[in-house]
Amino acid sequence: MFGGQGIRVGRILGIPIRLDLSFFFVFALLVFLIATQILPDDLNGLGGAERWLYGVGAGIVYFVSLLIHELAHSLTAKRYGMEVSSITLFFFGGVSLIREDSQRPGQEFWIAVVGPLASLVLGVGFILLALFALPEETTLNKVAFALGVLNCFLAAFNMLPGFPLDGGRVMRSLIWRMTGSRHRATRASARMGQLLGAVMIIYGVGGLLTDAAVFDSGFNSIWVALIGFLLITQAAQGVKAAELERDLADLRVGELMLRPPVARTAEADLPIRILAPSRAQLDQQDVFIVSEDGTAIGIASAVQILLLDEERYLNDRLRDIMIEAGKVQPLEPGSGADEALRRLQKERTFVLPVVERGRLLGVVGLEQILKALGQGPSPRLDPSSGA
Ligand SMILES: [Zn+2]
Repeated sequence: MFGGQGIRVGRILGIPIRLDLSFFFVFALLVFLIATQILPDDLNGLGGAERWLYGVGAGIVYFVSLLIHELAHSLTAKRYGMEVSSITLFFFGGVSLIREDSQRPGQEFWIAVVGPLASLVLGVGFILLALFALPEETTLNKVAFALGVLNCFLAAFNMLPGFPLDGGRVMRSLIWRMTGSRHRATRASARMGQLLGAVMIIYGVGGLLTDAAVFDSGFNSIWVALIGFLLITQAAQGVKAAELERDLADLRVGELMLRPPVARTAEADLPIRILAPSRAQLDQQDVFIVSEDGTAIGIASAVQILLLDEERYLNDRLRDIMIEAGKVQPLEPGSGADEALRRLQKERTFVLPVVERGRLLGVVGLEQILKALGQGPSPRLDPSSGA
């Protein structure tokens, strides 16, 4: 439900907007609730067709509200120079796919907090509109009030302090700031997310099984339990991600990098087809330090050669495909693997040079990091996957 790409409906400020299938379910539900529950029976003799029209209209405004919430996250991330791949709306909200993680707790805090803030402003705005601007006891008034309450609820729910909810991210940024450790902050807020999910499941199941007034009943209970379950699942992934982050931070680039002679040195003018006469036999882990007149001027990886089309494979020289050493910001041997991974994703490259005092010591790529972590290549970490 969360992994799917959904249906693409357009693009706002360069960000593709998608709808998950579950969104249509909640849209239909919302239209139904507004048409049958929120609008009173005797309202100005409102006919059946009109009721449904108001329902659909309110559903669309709700969709736009969700979008504004997500755009607030995305545009803040963009302001910090982060790339936003897409916004997907699914059934209890949306998700902004931001390509990089925050570098500082302050960034994390603002990216997270602006979403609920946007919902709160919308919610209060709709309520004020209903209370002071729209004529009393009209359908429009009722619908505006309902949308106001819905947006306020959205703001409040998203601020619950459990990762991956916005409130959990705010909590993560605060713990990160206090402890200076991002993975510890992620773990703590993800644990809170699991706890929150468990409470929601107990509340939901309790509502289904008992008549106690403390529990809600019927449909709401299933809803709460389902959201609790999704929260636990996502939070568990957060805990895993925190562990991976810690492992990565413990690895030094200097320990993983390939140096000569493992990293082969080859002349810049060497044709690719001579360097690798048979691509089938090329080891995916191979990296090349490209030299000219005895100076290292760039790096290239076997993966780049494997991805070349036939024509370029036959005609290119190493210098045509290499990553110029001066063009990418080099890593230092003391940098953590987490930093290397972030840089690989940001530069969308397969290898990065490791430089100490202006001297190219070696190269490090995704393959070396994954190998050091003792796991196979994962699509999530692939800089070319665009996700
Ligand atoms: Zn949000």
